[in-house]
Amino acid sequence: METREIFRNFPFLMQMAFYVIAIGSMAVFAYGFFRRYKKYRQGRDAERFNNIIARFAKAAAIMASNRTIFKRDWYAGFAHSLIMWGFVILLIGTGLVALDHDFLRFFDVQLLKGPFYLGFSAVLDIFGLLFIIGLVMMMVRRKSKPAQLDYTRADKSETISRKGYSTDDMIFMWLLLLIGITGFVIEGARIAADRPAWEMWSPVGVGFASLVDMSGISANNVHMYTWWFHAVMVMFFIAYIPYSKAMHMLVDYANLMFKDDMAAIKLPRVSEERQEVAMGYQKVEDFTWKELLDFDACTKCGRCHVSCPAQNAGTPLSPRDIILDLRTLVDGSSGGVAEWFGQSDSNEKKPKKLAGGVISKEALWSCTSCMACVEACPVGIEHLTTIVNLRRDLVEEGDMEDMLQDTLANIGDYGNSFGQSERMRAKWTSGLDFKIKDVRKEEADFLWFVGDYASYDARIQGLSRKMASIFNKMGIDFGILYDGEKNAGNDVRRVGEEGLYEMLAEDNIEVLNKAKFKEIFTTDPHSYNTIKNEYPEFGGDYSIYHYTGLLIRLFNEGKLKFPNQLNYKVTYHDPCYLGRYNGEVEAPRLLLEAMGVTMVDMPRCKENSFCCGAGGGRIWMDDSKMDTRPSEIRIEEALGIGDGVDHFIVACPKDYAMFTDAVKTSGSEGKMHVKDIIELVDEAMGG
Ligand code: SF4
Ligand code: SF4
Repeated sequence: METREIFRNFPFLMQMAFYVIAIGSMAVFAYGFFRRYKKYRQGRDAERFNNIIARFAKAAAIMASNRTIFKRDWYAGFAHSLIMWGFVILLIGTGLVALDHDFLRFFDVQLLKGPFYLGFSAVLDIFGLLFIIGLVMMMVRRKSKPAQLDYTRADKSETISRKGYSTDDMIFMWLLLLIGITGFVIEGARIAADRPAWEMWSPVGVGFASLVDMSGISANNVHMYTWWFHAVMVMFFIAYIPYSKAMHMLVDYANLMFKDDMAAIKLPRVSEERQEVAMGYQKVEDFTWKELLDFDACTKCGRCHVSCPAQNAGTPLSPRDIILDLRTLVDGSSGGVAEWFGQSDSNEKKPKKLAGGVISKEALWSCTSCMACVEACPVGIEHLTTIVNLRRDLVEEGDMEDMLQDTLANIGDYGNSFGQSERMRAKWTSGLDFKIKDVRKEEADFLWFVGDYASYDARIQGLSRKMASIFNKMGIDFGILYDGEKNAGNDVRRVGEEGLYEMLAEDNIEVLNKAKFKEIFTTDPHSYNTIKNEYPEFGGDYSIYHYTGLLIRLFNEGKLKFPNQLNYKVTYHDPCYLGRYNGEVEAPRLLLEAMGVTMVDMPRCKENSFCCGAGGGRIWMDDSKMDTRPSEIRIEEALGIGDGVDHFIVACPKDYAMFTDAVKTSGSEGKMHVKDIIELVDEAMGG
């Protein structure tokens, strides 16, 4: 009958030896797994057990499809799918063999026989082959040295060795490859020895059987020695899992399952009890269990590293390095395994501060809070939340640039980052030939939350007047808060000044709740993000539009018309806080299309947009030490499109300021013209 013998020609003692090794290997696995579990239990609560079934199903869908790995890298996604599915099917196959041999046979039951066995054999052969192909594809990819797999640290420090990471990667891949290949050799030797009538149900095994025949070595000997080699490697692999990169096979599922979809978009509040101790993170015990899981989940794929504008600009920040450094720290302090691979900081045995010690303050202050790292990470790591929690500690200690300190003081004193009087906030309206309603006193359909830059920056005030005129021309009933508005606090919060943020949010919400309006719109994506996603937690729940979303709605309702079709060839820069944070990538493009503009996207666009460098309070810090500013890199990217594209379109006041500067500092004046969509709308409406 069609079946296979498990311990083919093995004497009893040899069979027993196998079980002893297997039990030993599982014990080592269980110990390592328990240590990991114990480590995560040390973390603070993270409140991630809500909607557990939905979370489980979502993570399963991501894992099954590999879609986060396919994203923007089909090669890695494809190779990883082959490896993962090959591994899963081989694991199930091995499980069935164990079930049959170690359990069911004692009840005179056998699953693996007859037609079921033949199908089983064919499926395992096919997936085994795909598994090997996937591994070879990954190895070939490494040979081409892609930038994301270069483990050189962004801070160029050589104190912490990265050699262990490469060794671990290699052990992991070679173990899997050898296990896969020797599995086929065993099958080939078995077929070569018996030549069963059903051998074609093992198509790959038959090929290996021919090789065994050609070798002239006894098939039974090949079977015996390869079997043991294979078995020892499998057992070593099982024992190795919790101590190595292989752990990602287990941790990453959990990490995706417990990921907060609002991570970084909505930052966590500091509870009152914690405020009494510290605002930010100071020690390992301050991390939540999800953060501890994050550190272990990192596969070092480097997608966050290459996406990071700060890393691209040559600053010491790399989100990958932060996660790996924190992993090393936590492993070191909890008796972990980092040292085994030479990943520990050999020159520094004294406990260091987290912010400004383990993670340098230069790295922490380089973050633009663009969230590209969170978006790029295929395994659900929430880098930015951790970075802000570390910044909170620096802020509490006053460990920041003078310019940033002054700006925060201005915001605290005057409610705006320009340090100007509150009464000057609506000064920009004085050039208008109509009066904008004060929604604190008069009712209006829409409240325009103008924001600091659009109110105070001389470069942007003209755009604000154009925006007001556009709405006036359409006959839209709108108003503003005049001196009742304060900085929305989005960037203050991301700087790490949580106390000031809460004050700003509460003050704005108090004014907004008394004002008379139906919906809010804003020209500022930063204000848009915090009002939409963070104010509800403070009692301010509003319907809010970014102006592009509102304009496209008015266009569709027939209230906005474009009698002048524009003849520009443009590219559009998605602001991080609009596209990546809030998924609004269509409205600006639909508006441009409606105006007749020819739009060509840059290679990095929509959710994958490249930050201008202003967010997270960076606009209030010195950027003169950067190799190249992110805004200049972005202008270069736009110039690279060629094809007559000479307009760089933005939809954020900070972008307007950053990119008009970048065009000058990169010597691109005359080659690229920066315009806000507001200007195009004004032109298309007839000026
Ligand atoms: S948020 Fe942006 S700047 Fe900050 S670490 Fe992530 S990718 Fe880098
Ligand atoms: S943090 Fe995520 S994106 Fe970055 S290297 Fe690790 S797994 Fe890759």
